[in-house]
Amino acid sequence: MSIELKFLGGARTVTGSKFTLKTKKASILTEFGLFQGHRRQAFELNTLLPDEILETDSMLLSHAHIDHAGNIPRLVAHGYENDIYATSATIDLARIMLLDSAEIQVRDAEYVNKKNAKKGEPLIEPLYSIEEAEASIKNLKPLEYHSTREVAAGIKATFYDAGHILGSAQILYEIDGLRILFTGDLGQPDLPVVRNPERVPSPDIIVCESTYGERNHPSLDEAKQRLSDILKSAYDRGAKILVPAFAVGRTQSLVLVMHQLMDEGRLPAMPIWIDSPLSLEATEVFKKHPECYDRETMEYLKRDEDPFGFFRLRYVQTVEESKSLNEVSGPCMIIASSGMCEGGRVVHHLKNTVADPKNLVIITGYQAEGTLGKRIVDGVKSVKLYGEEYPLNCGVEVLNEYSAHADRNDLIELFKGYDSKKVKEVFLVHGDYDQSRALGEAVNGLGYSSITIPDVGQSFEIG
Ligand SMILES: [Zn+2]
Repeated sequence: MSIELKFLGGARTVTGSKFTLKTKKASILTEFGLFQGHRRQAFELNTLLPDEILETDSMLLSHAHIDHAGNIPRLVAHGYENDIYATSATIDLARIMLLDSAEIQVRDAEYVNKKNAKKGEPLIEPLYSIEEAEASIKNLKPLEYHSTREVAAGIKATFYDAGHILGSAQILYEIDGLRILFTGDLGQPDLPVVRNPERVPSPDIIVCESTYGERNHPSLDEAKQRLSDILKSAYDRGAKILVPAFAVGRTQSLVLVMHQLMDEGRLPAMPIWIDSPLSLEATEVFKKHPECYDRETMEYLKRDEDPFGFFRLRYVQTVEESKSLNEVSGPCMIIASSGMCEGGRVVHHLKNTVADPKNLVIITGYQAEGTLGKRIVDGVKSVKLYGEEYPLNCGVEVLNEYSAHADRNDLIELFKGYDSKKVKEVFLVHGDYDQSRALGEAVNGLGYSSITIPDVGQSFEIG
């Protein structure tokens, strides 16, 4: 038996996840995510479509986040006609995420082309269009949790809960008796809405994420208290609170916790604007998939017909409505995409928020190197928006605990659950190198003998 595992992205970095498995009879692609970061460099990496990817027999997708699914439209637009398996909740969310991403790609290209035209440089095409994103959805085929399917000749696959966002899955492949687990992104136990990550039966090879391999999050109770304190003081000073967020996942978690705080009388009600054109659809997807809810959400649903607090939300659809929010005064919250401040409507809200010391920006998730979100977290004194510098006088709070990722202890617990003597090889991916290395040392301490932190482009014989 010869099986080659190759890392084509999401290795020693958190974005651009893509891996291939190749046997003599077939090959399979796992994830096809967008690289994010410096615009030009990311754009160049995202345009690459090597034959070894186009020639795979099918693809599996762990969840709908853009760094895992975001380049599917380009793949399909370049002739990939094979099936892409995902859970049905992931398919519904992926449609929204990909349309959202297409809009950002188109706007980005317009912006770059305006500059290029001035400098007399050649114009660029967007990575993909809205039509291409819509058309690519037809390749997505549902495969539900725990149902096993032969996804290519001699390769069987099963999805297990990953507890990260709605529909998220770990993927177990079986090839000639060898069991290869891709964890995808793992959630932390007890995250709102979704079930906890599952222990997958007896893997031989584990390809595990390591986003927070070195760091622990505070407990979710502490996180809730801290969020309550931060929001209460922002409310008291009449702040406009801006939350850069992805359309899916984190937004719903944050809103759910705020709804609970308001219900418990710990936070006064304030208007919450969701300024992401596709968030309303994302909310509909959440309503449509109760099969993904955890027990607490099911219990909550029995007591409260509106467990996510949807009635508190005001959705912003058009660009004009979005711009009219510039006139709204605090206290209020505006949740707008994109999550790393690299594009989308959040940019014009930043322009109207950051200079006033009364206001607050809450960063709720991981910020990749090179993004505006990362610079804000790093405490820069001013930010460049639409080519102009604005002083960053407002408050900035980082709430990583709502990142929906397992932390160091959660990941170590996961490895404790597997038989270190039976697992032949561990690959740590989806993390900056320091994070992966720190986790690797801990995993080694648990008796796992072979631990690799692969780099992009590396391949390994695993069977
Ligand atoms: Zn994710």
